[in-house]
Amino acid sequence: MEEIKPVLSADIIAEDNPIYIAGPCSVENEEILLTTAHQLAKGGIRVFRGGLWKPRTKPGGFEGVGETGLPWMLEVKKETGMSLATEVATPAHLEAALDGGIDLFWIGARTSANPFAVQELADFIASRNLDLPIFVKNPVNQDLELWIGALERFYNAGIRRLGAIHRGFSVYGPHLLRNMPEWHIPIELRRRFPTMTILSDPSHIGGKREFVKPLGQQALDMGFDGLIIESHCNPSDALSDREQQLTPAELIQIIEEFVYRSANQDTKRLEELRDEIDRCDNELLDILARRMAVCREIGEYKKEHNMPVVQIGRHDEIMQSRIGMAEKIGLSPKAVGKILSTIHAESVRQQIELMNSSKTMK
Ligand code: PEP
Ligand code: MN
Repeated sequence: MEEIKPVLSADIIAEDNPIYIAGPCSVENEEILLTTAHQLAKGGIRVFRGGLWKPRTKPGGFEGVGETGLPWMLEVKKETGMSLATEVATPAHLEAALDGGIDLFWIGARTSANPFAVQELADFIASRNLDLPIFVKNPVNQDLELWIGALERFYNAGIRRLGAIHRGFSVYGPHLLRNMPEWHIPIELRRRFPTMTILSDPSHIGGKREFVKPLGQQALDMGFDGLIIESHCNPSDALSDREQQLTPAELIQIIEEFVYRSANQDTKRLEELRDEIDRCDNELLDILARRMAVCREIGEYKKEHNMPVVQIGRHDEIMQSRIGMAEKIGLSPKAVGKILSTIHAESVRQQIELMNSSKTMK
């Protein structure tokens, strides 16, 4: 897996940075869909999501309207110009969605955890020689290799416009967030496939609308390429994921309030500060070298006078007085304690080495 094109850069939308995909968790009826879509399009959203087939934990819940909703989605595209995205879990879903005019497909977290289901989709794509933009959500469990395995199955089927969506990982029992972000996992994915588009899904990570903004900001700060966010014109009546959906107005406001950090900003001040850090580190190293030289002289003295290397009373006195001083000047006593212990351990090591080398020289 080498040449992966960013999924959204070419024919779906222009080079939006960051990329936003927004829309309801599930497609419910034409009126709700169009109302939500018009409000989102007015706010500048260019890719519209809507789940037609909903994987639910237990039977009996709202499982999506399926193919019935495809003409409503197409109407969204006609009236707003937005591109359309939906979840597919089987070749039948994919075929229907393709015929219905869907532009972009994502593989849900429960499907990407299932290699048989992913392979069936990949085989279908390969047999039709399809060139589609596909996003693979992380599997529900914390397994980077399984996530990469699903991406590889699509890659081997010929898909090059491949992207990933980070939606967090399941945990048992009640937690503040619905799914644990485990940011190190998508970051490792980015390290392995630097050109792949990776989006984050703060709606499904947080599970509550108030978490969308802080989690979205965190993802942008970490360099994700964009966000997929659930939005419904009347969230309290939504048939799925009611608590995490934002109204289009709330969503647009959050997007306006996000802080965007650009790598191309003027970095003059940052460079000045880094120079200052370099000078501090040089002084620190200089002082450490001086301190170690004094320690070795003390070691010589102890050896000549047959004194032990470690004198606990002196060690405790040093630690206490320095930690007290550190606290007075606003440093963390715990952190300073750790640094001093490390320095002390190195002094002791050097003095012992000196004693031993003196012994062998005699
Ligand atoms: C969804 O995007 O609506 C969805 C079902 O997400 P996930 O597969 O991440 O649970
Ligand atoms: Mn949802």
